Amino acid sequence: MNIPVINLKEQYKKVKKEISRNLQEILSEQRLILGKYCTLLETNIADYAGVPYAITCANGTDALILALMALGIKAGDEVITTPYTFFSTASSIALLGAKPVFVDVKKEDLNIDPVLIEGAITSKTKAITVVHLFGKLCDMDSICKIGEKYEIPVVEDMAQSLGARRNGKMSGSFGDIASLSFYPTKNLGGIGEGGMVLTKRPDLGERTKKLRVHGMGGATYHHEMIGINSRLDEIKACALVAKFPYLESWNAKRIENANFYNKKLGKLPIVFPQTDAGGSHIIHQYVIRVKERDGLQGFLKDKGIQTGIYYPVPLHLQECFGYLGYTKGSFPVSEEAAMTSLALPVYPELTKVEKNYIVDSIKEFYR
Ligand SMILES: *Cc1c(COP(=O)(O)O)cnc(C)c1O
Repeated sequence: MNIPVINLKEQYKKVKKEISRNLQEILSEQRLILGKYCTLLETNIADYAGVPYAITCANGTDALILALMALGIKAGDEVITTPYTFFSTASSIALLGAKPVFVDVKKEDLNIDPVLIEGAITSKTKAITVVHLFGKLCDMDSICKIGEKYEIPVVEDMAQSLGARRNGKMSGSFGDIASLSFYPTKNLGGIGEGGMVLTKRPDLGERTKKLRVHGMGGATYHHEMIGINSRLDEIKACALVAKFPYLESWNAKRIENANFYNKKLGKLPIVFPQTDAGGSHIIHQYVIRVKERDGLQGFLKDKGIQTGIYYPVPLHLQECFGYLGYTKGSFPVSEEAAMTSLALPVYPELTKVEKNYIVDSIKEFYR
C-alpha cells in the first residue's frame, strides 16, 4: 500500500466543478486581483474567526511581515517568539531589521512556554509572536495577560490553526493581530500561494490594507507609507471560497483520525498529541514523539507510508540565525522535539483501510 503524507488530489475532486466554473467567470470578466472572490473570502473568514478585519495577501510569510509592519516593528526592536516553528515566524522579524528573541516551548504541546516569556522581555521588546503549532492553540489567556501587563502586542501565527478554538473563541481573535497561510498543504489550502491578516483592531486593519498595496490610501499613486506589493489573485481566492464550506468537516475528520491513532497506539512508548472536545487542536499535523524516530520513519517508508519531520532543525540552530549567538543546549525542549518528532498521514480523506494499515505497521515496528 502507498500512503502519502498529504493527498491533495482527493480533496480537489470535491470542489473541482465549482472551481472550474469560477475560473471561467474570472477569466472572461478579467477582474484578476482583489475582486469579488477576495472580498468573499475576507468576509467568510472574518465572520468565522470573529474579527472585523480579514485582509487577503500574497502568502503567509507576507501576512507575518504585514502584521509586524502594521505594528511598526523596525530595526533595533526585539520580538519574542519560539524556535520550534516554520522559518518565517522568525524570518519576518529579521527581515524588518528587528531581532528575534527565542524562548523555549512546553514539553506537553510544543507551543511557546508562557512562563518563560516574562524573563525575555526588555525595554526593546515590541511584540510577541506566538504559533499555534500543528493546529493546537497556545495558552492565550496567560500570553495575552503578559502582553497587557507590559503593553506589548501579541501576534498570532495561525498558519496551521484556522478553526481551532477555546470556549468557542477562535484562533486569530485572541491577540492584537494574526497571520494566516493558504499554502496548498494547510487546512484551508489553495491552488497556489495565498495569505491573510486578521485583526480586531481597526487601526491595525486600516494600516494593513494600505501596506499590502504599496502604502496607498485613498488616492492611487499617493503613498501614505512605504508598503509592499502583496495582493491575492482572484483565481486563487475563488478556489479558497469553494473549499471554505468544507473546512469544519475536514478539521473534524482530522480530529477523528487523531483520536483513532491515539486509541489504537495508546499502549506504545509514544508521546501523543492531545485533542479535546472543545476543539483546541485541529490537527494540522499529527505529530508523535518517539526516541527511535529515524528507525520508525525508515520502517514505515519501506511499508509505503510517507511521514514528515516538522522540524528537523530548530530555528536558533539554523546557520542564518548564527549571528543571534544561541548554541546547542539553549532550548532543550525544542532540540529534543527536533530529534523525536514524526508526522503521520492524518488528512481528512484517509480511508479506514489506510488508517488500520498505518496502525498495524507501527505496532509491527514495536514488536
Ligand atoms: C506555512 C507557515 C507559514 C508561512 O506561510 P507561507 O504561505 O508558506 O508563506 C508561517 N508560519 C507557519 C507556522 C507556517 O506553518
